[in-house]
Amino acid sequence: MTNGIEATVALCKCGKTHKVYGVRFEKAGKKHWKYTWAFPIKESTAKHEGYDKTSIVGVIEPTNDYPGCPYCKAQSFVICSCGRLNCNNTSGLGGLFTCEWCGTTGKLGIYDGSGFDSSGDR
Ligand SMILES: [Zn+2]
Ligand SMILES: [Zn+2]
Repeated sequence: MTNGIEATVALCKCGKTHKVYGVRFEKAGKKHWKYTWAFPIKESTAKHEGYDKTSIVGVIEPTNDYPGCPYCKAQSFVICSCGRLNCNNTSGLGGLFTCEWCGTTGKLGIYDGSGFDSSGDR
């Protein structure tokens, strides 16, 4: 930890372009994270940096200047049961989404803050 700010990067896949990007999360409190930035990244680079092993537990919300997905501008995520992030391109609650990581198709639910990680193998 430096400067008291704890930050980490998690991976997200864009359902529109099928590309990976990194999302920077800053710890905002106990079980509270804000996502501040999103940037295109190669999956191989992300693996090298260990971004595919990020684990975040708690409530997540964007900062006011969060730019959104670098490809489709989505501001929010769908967190699959496999524990990974996808762009939220669905049309609201009850919309169908397909996970870009594991291929699961499901109905969009409300994230309950129970946590997710990027490793996908727990
Ligand atoms: Zn996207
Ligand atoms: Zn999945």
